[in-house]
Amino acid sequence: MMNEHKTRIIVVDGSSVTRAILTRILQEEVTNAEVYPCATGEEVLTLLDHSKYDLVSTALMLPDMDGLELSRQIRASKSHSYIPIIVVSGDADSRLLREGFEAGVTDYFDKSQGYKAFGGFIRSFVQRHSGLIGHILFVEDSATAAAVIQKILEKHGLKVSRFSAGEEALGMLQEKHGNEHSLDDYDMVITDFILEGDMTGGDLLHAIRAKMHMSQQEMPVLVLTSSEEPQTQVEVFHAGANDFVNKPIVEEVLIARVRALLLIKHQYDALKEQAEAMRWIAVTDSLTGVRSKRYLVDNGEEYINNTDNQPVWAMLIDIDHFKQINDTLGHITGDHVLAELGEKLNASFKDGMVVRFGGEEFCLLLPNLNADQMLERAEMLRSDLASMKPAGVEITVSIGLACTADHPDENLTKFISIADKALYMAKENGRNRIYIYTADGPTASPWNDDAGLSEAVPTFTH
Ligand code: GH3
Ligand code: MG
Ligand code: MG
Ligand code: MG
Repeated sequence: MMNEHKTRIIVVDGSSVTRAILTRILQEEVTNAEVYPCATGEEVLTLLDHSKYDLVSTALMLPDMDGLELSRQIRASKSHSYIPIIVVSGDADSRLLREGFEAGVTDYFDKSQGYKAFGGFIRSFVQRHSGLIGHILFVEDSATAAAVIQKILEKHGLKVSRFSAGEEALGMLQEKHGNEHSLDDYDMVITDFILEGDMTGGDLLHAIRAKMHMSQQEMPVLVLTSSEEPQTQVEVFHAGANDFVNKPIVEEVLIARVRALLLIKHQYDALKEQAEAMRWIAVTDSLTGVRSKRYLVDNGEEYINNTDNQPVWAMLIDIDHFKQINDTLGHITGDHVLAELGEKLNASFKDGMVVRFGGEEFCLLLPNLNADQMLERAEMLRSDLASMKPAGVEITVSIGLACTADHPDENLTKFISIADKALYMAKENGRNRIYIYTADGPTASPWNDDAGLSEAVPTFTH
């Protein structure tokens, strides 16, 4: 699960001009960057004392201290010992190469390459080092080991849910995974290989892969082992682990492995999201943003028969004299009118299915409304549209209605054709009005009488 994460970056440089340039580049290159410019090393240390940051960019020479000295002090601090530190320096000299690593500098940028290159450098740097985001299902039966590891993970920004038994963990995983809309789904599993109780780490892994059918991309699993035995390591991979780490845990190694596995998971999520977006496009009309006729054909029958929806109304909406809009104002204006109308229908009928049925004709299926409620909403739509001027064009619509309560046992095609007959009556009887096809036949909406209706001859008004 990706969530919005602000990247908080401290920029320290003695020169106010350099500070301003670096700040601007960071804001442009790093999504959701919050930049904190500082003039001295002291200022940086004070900031770090009071809040949490994601990255420090420092000059090699600062007014009050050396950039490498600042780096050493940050590494020695409790709160930010693992924050990435970049040195931006005009003289990427031998001193940096010699002492930078020892001082805890993560990377450095040679200013002589120009500020444009700094943009690219920082973008790829942040991609590699950004704070870890993810929810980890952590299974460890030893309370002491669990406390240490959980603390490390949380320090790096991860959310951790810990369980001591494999059965319990599997139950939680199944519960969250079964709920498609869980915002809080796990991103990866870290499990001890040997667990007390009936289910070992290996059994848990096997259940995730073979029973839940979750791939190494969908649910990466990192196994904690206490043995250097090659045989155990082989077993871990056979059970379906992505990777393992040996105990006692080395923080950097654990975090590097977690980072790599979360990257796999986030890429998997992004692909899945993309595939869903593609599917949405296939069932959505690209001009108007409402459902396509394909979608109605695939889902409409089940929708009108669903007992939860009864009674269901079909509402056909056709723009009056739309051809004249195209003829006088052009096809592109006509397209804009349709797009705005689609948006309006989507917004007004979230409770139903909104479909582009033909060129300038929409078909809506609306659940759980009695005749009064339906007529009121249809009338509201009709009058809204008469004053809306989509794309600056005055339009009116004619509307035909039919209800499953009046026409039970009709299939979708027949049901919609009944609403179409009502629409035809609305056109015949002056347009800009509503007809309803009841069990007794087509009849004008009672609202038509007091609306003082007249059809608009489309004119462009701005
Ligand atoms: P009526 O009041 O009887 O409905 O008159 P009308 O002119 O709206 O009806 P008609 O069915 O004769 O014309 C519909 C027009 O809609 C013809 C067609 O060119 C236009 N149309 C259909 N699809 C599109 C589209 O995607 N964009 C645009 N701009 N026009 C479209
Ligand atoms: Mg027509
Ligand atoms: Mg029309
Ligand atoms: Mg039409």
